[in-house]
Amino acid sequence: MTDFEGLGLNQPILRALKEIDYTQPTPIQEQTIPALLEGRDILGIAQTGTGKTASFALPMLNRLTKNPARATRGCPRGLILAPTRELAVQISDNIRTYSKYLHLRTLIVCGGMSIRPQIMQMNKGVHILVATPGRLLDLMTQGHVSLSEVEFFVLDEGDRMLDMGFQRDLQKITAKLPAARQTALFSATMPKTVSHLANGLLNDPVKVEVMQQATTAEKVSQQVLFVAKDLKRNLLIDLMGDSGFKRVLVFTRTKHGADRVSKHLQQSGITSDAIHGNKAQNARQRALASFKTGAIRVLVATDIAARGIDVDGVTHVINFDLPNEPDSYVHRIGRTARNGASGSALSFCDPSERVYLKDIEKTIRQPVPVNEDHAYHRTGSANNAPRPNNGGQRNGQNNGQNNGKSGGDASKRRRPRRSGYQSKSAA
Ligand code: AMP
Repeated sequence: MTDFEGLGLNQPILRALKEIDYTQPTPIQEQTIPALLEGRDILGIAQTGTGKTASFALPMLNRLTKNPARATRGCPRGLILAPTRELAVQISDNIRTYSKYLHLRTLIVCGGMSIRPQIMQMNKGVHILVATPGRLLDLMTQGHVSLSEVEFFVLDEGDRMLDMGFQRDLQKITAKLPAARQTALFSATMPKTVSHLANGLLNDPVKVEVMQQATTAEKVSQQVLFVAKDLKRNLLIDLMGDSGFKRVLVFTRTKHGADRVSKHLQQSGITSDAIHGNKAQNARQRALASFKTGAIRVLVATDIAARGIDVDGVTHVINFDLPNEPDSYVHRIGRTARNGASGSALSFCDPSERVYLKDIEKTIRQPVPVNEDHAYHRTGSANNAPRPNNGGQRNGQNNGQNNGKSGGDASKRRRPRRSGYQSKSAA
């Protein structure tokens, strides 16, 4: 197995990696770093959690230090585009860590942060710019950023970028890039729209693919819990009665849903916060920091806000709402079981969501085992299903007034009666 020395990175980078205990490159790093160091373009199919940030950041740093020119006002030499602020913050934090012993200046420019300090920094000169598309375009239009000196361009999470409607912004930005440059495009999935984007941006790229989607799913122990829509909140509180649910990421489909669930948890005495696109950047960062330090047990997030959330030790991912896109399910459950750890993903499925479950099972190529051992289990269609199960008298009628202390026996109820996959979920 190759180590980082063997990949041909320079000494200051290797020193920084040693300090953060990166001893072995991850598979995507092993494949991507040598090709980028040779000057090739890359088309990488990989998700967050595979080590893809270092796979493009380290060769970029290596390349920029070979020609140690001073940073020119408004003209970065490395550009990284990310779809969300959270991901951009994470990338720039990583780059600062990796470049600790290099004389390279990195700046992050994102919406939701004050633009003035970004302009001031830009005017002082930066080598590497990490940006979300909208804010970058603003700065370009105002004449504070020129892309004429970009030597190394990275587009991260291409699929999400297009899902979020950034196609036109991307076109405007990439039209300003010099033709003679190196480019890396990463995407978790490769729909036609992304291949089209790749064709326009990349020159004879080396294709690198790590971790099939189904492989991610295999690392995570998954269960689906059938429950009526209006009882999902009670079920969540019940589950949280188990102290094994230490660091829990809950996904909702909407921003309001995220707020409502977080408020309900707080009212039940469970520390939590919500993170979504309507929240100011500093509130989002604060929520994320509290989740990372363990100051709150639950972070409730929407798909877009959760993109790129890099928190180790997430014990459980709970899909409060099932996503209508199977890819989102794979992204969500990939937030647990990171860096070789194990993790659990529990999905609440009301009768209207059965169709989403079917699509998910098709994508991950396995049925999701059904957990019937909870107080709110319901089967059947929207109209004839019994509700709730044995715990109904106690929990089903309290309309969310559950005080969170009822979970002492939740773990017993939650344990699946049968092991192995059951075909019920596909019914
Ligand atoms: P990423 O997919 O870039 O978000 O990386 C996922 C996590 O893996 C981050 O916490 C990185 O700091 C960590 N990581 C990346 N590469 C390595 C490595 N070679 N050794 C140990 N940890 C790594």
